[in-house]
Amino acid sequence: AKENGRGQAVAYHGDLDLEREHRTRLEDSLRSAIASASIHPAYQPLVDAETGELKGVEALARWTTETGPISPEVFIPIAERAGLIDELGLHVLSAAIDSVRQWDDITVSVNVSPIQLKNPNFAADVAAVLKAKSFDPGRLTLEITEGVLMSNPEHAKRSIASLKAIGVKFALDDFGCGYASIGALREFGFDRMKIDRSLVTAIDSERGARILAATISLANALNIPVTAEGVETPAQAKVLKLSGCDQLQGYLVGKPMAAVEIEKRFISHVA
Ligand code: C2E
Ligand code: CA
Ligand code: CA
Ligand code: CA
Repeated sequence: AKENGRGQAVAYHGDLDLEREHRTRLEDSLRSAIASASIHPAYQPLVDAETGELKGVEALARWTTETGPISPEVFIPIAERAGLIDELGLHVLSAAIDSVRQWDDITVSVNVSPIQLKNPNFAADVAAVLKAKSFDPGRLTLEITEGVLMSNPEHAKRSIASLKAIGVKFALDDFGCGYASIGALREFGFDRMKIDRSLVTAIDSERGARILAATISLANALNIPVTAEGVETPAQAKVLKLSGCDQLQGYLVGKPMAAVEIEKRFISHVA
């Protein structure tokens, strides 16, 4: 389009300028949102597939601006491009630990961006937060997607190994929607596999149910427990349980919610 008439060339640059300006403005407000701690995690319950008991929570970053909430699908990529993801990630980690520490034995899962894993300080930064907060590393699971492991496997492997050495657990996130190699589960020493919502949704067909059951038994054969994401119906929960999936996550159990809500619904009745 930029090689067409003069009018169109101007329009083209105009759009680019607008887009760039919009992005810069978002970057600026993201920067101050991180600094003022107005980005905070919501917590989604992870429950035992058999008993329905709360086992852990996944921390999911939330950002509400004057004009309403912005999805992490939008602001995480902006944070990555703007060099803000390391800070954002550590902020979510710290805030999540502060919430979860009071809930005995409940684990916390935190998402890690590929960019963070490429930072040579990543493992040391995470270890420093755990130490500063005297939080048991065994209660932390870091969720990473397979893409990370392809681009710089040796470096990623080292970071993962050094955090595993102090007890941090790792989950392979979004399994089944990318290259999905079972090999990565072993090679990097993952402690858990998270089955992507797209595979869970596919359960509703017989073929989908068979693929899912095969995937879960493969993981179980490697002694790797499985969490299913995006479980929305009792029928899905039943098939997952029968197929050997040990944890469920999804709207059926609960949407991401505030820490007080987790307490009210899953914890306070114990106290
Ligand atoms: P994810 O790690 O795969 O997280 C699961 C997403 O699925 C969450 O979306 C969650 O709200 C949604 N979800 C859970 N159960 C259901 C369900 O039953 N049905 C449907 N339709 N959706 C369900 P959310 O919170 O919008 O997060 C989107 C993605 O943003 C996350 O996907 C993750 O990749 C990224 N993200 C969120 N917080 C962070 C963060 O602190 N750091 C990094 N690096 N990425 C984050
Ligand atoms: Ca995740
Ligand atoms: Ca996921
Ligand atoms: Ca996902």
